[in-house]
Amino acid sequence: NRYVTVETQINGEPKESNFEIKSTPLVLSAEPGSNDVVLKNLYVSIDPYQINRLKAYTLTQKTSGYATAITPGQATCWLFYFYFYSVIDAYGVAKVVASENPEFEKDDLVVGMITWGEYSVLKGQYMLRKLDPMGFPLSYHVGIFAFSGLTAYAGFFEVCKPKKGEKVFVSAASGSVGHLVGQYAKQFGCYVVGCAGSKEKVALLKDKLGFDDAFNYKDEPDLKSALEKYFPEGIDIYFDNVGAEMLEAAVSNMNTFGRIAACGVISEYTDSGKRAAPNMLEIVYKRITIRGFLTADFMNLYPDFLSATVDHLRTGTLHTLEDISTGLESIPQAFVGLFHGGNVGKKIVKLADE
Ligand code: NDP
Repeated sequence: NRYVTVETQINGEPKESNFEIKSTPLVLSAEPGSNDVVLKNLYVSIDPYQINRLKAYTLTQKTSGYATAITPGQATCWLFYFYFYSVIDAYGVAKVVASENPEFEKDDLVVGMITWGEYSVLKGQYMLRKLDPMGFPLSYHVGIFAFSGLTAYAGFFEVCKPKKGEKVFVSAASGSVGHLVGQYAKQFGCYVVGCAGSKEKVALLKDKLGFDDAFNYKDEPDLKSALEKYFPEGIDIYFDNVGAEMLEAAVSNMNTFGRIAACGVISEYTDSGKRAAPNMLEIVYKRITIRGFLTADFMNLYPDFLSATVDHLRTGTLHTLEDISTGLESIPQAFVGLFHGGNVGKKIVKLADE
């Protein structure tokens, strides 16, 4: 079984050289009487939050702990497994090769926490369920029907509590979460502006995804003035995927009783010197709510989210962007690319054909 492991501690920007592909003998059968399953991995998710886990992971090797700050859906059994095998877990779709768990049979398609490897050997307790593809590509079950979609849906509707006609700003708007937030907001009846890091991404947001406007934040010397220009009447809702200067600029442009969903701070993950310092006086006087959230807090919304999203996809009122690389070797590059805007939409690696 070949798998990706992190070899050197990630400090600052991740590099492909932080990772290594290793191989370990694999027995393609589950231990009789155990709860084990052996899976052939088909698609795995590549997510920014992994960097925080990988930093924690390498840091904690010496102390035999395993702590992560952002771990939606993490299964505790991995504590033990990873300490010895140095495999990185990630959400994904797989096919059952062998199972001693009565819930799964050989050749079942499953979705849940698998590994950045060719195969996953899951022991003890794990987060896995049978997958009904519902006629959609398997990759959708790693992206839009998984954490990216639910993050966008719950973050926008539950955390931002939108009202029709409100002005919404989304950062990292062409990314996995951002492109869905903008579309949910448009469908709901809001005015939506997104920012992204290239002119091609900006065109995509406006021309394909129906954003009212979009801009390349890298072309703007002064983010506060840029937001003043795009929101002459102020921002009611800011869906923050990046943190730092963008958050500060957004706070300065928020309207009274504005809401900020603190979804992620990707610009701070690789630069510990970058920390947002929003103007607290403005937050007080304008009575702004800034709420952090984790998608795992909103699993109760999954059925509503799924049925609404399936309907939108079937009627063509929602587009999902996927950025799929192929092969285990592409995982390090796919991951590193997230921190340079290398992806358009949900970053996924395809590991094998069904
Ligand atoms: P994306 O698909 O959006 O990929 C990351 C994107 O972020 C890049 O493509 C890049 O786009 C942008 N980016 C990278 N570095 C910077 C930077 N320094 N400044 C500004 N933009 C940058 O990732 P996701 O949609 O998966 O995640 C988006 C955010 O949501 C992340 O912060 C993530 O951690 C968070 N998240 C939080 C969850 C939760 O439960 N709270 C769940 C899932 C995600 P560009 O070209 O525009 O620069």
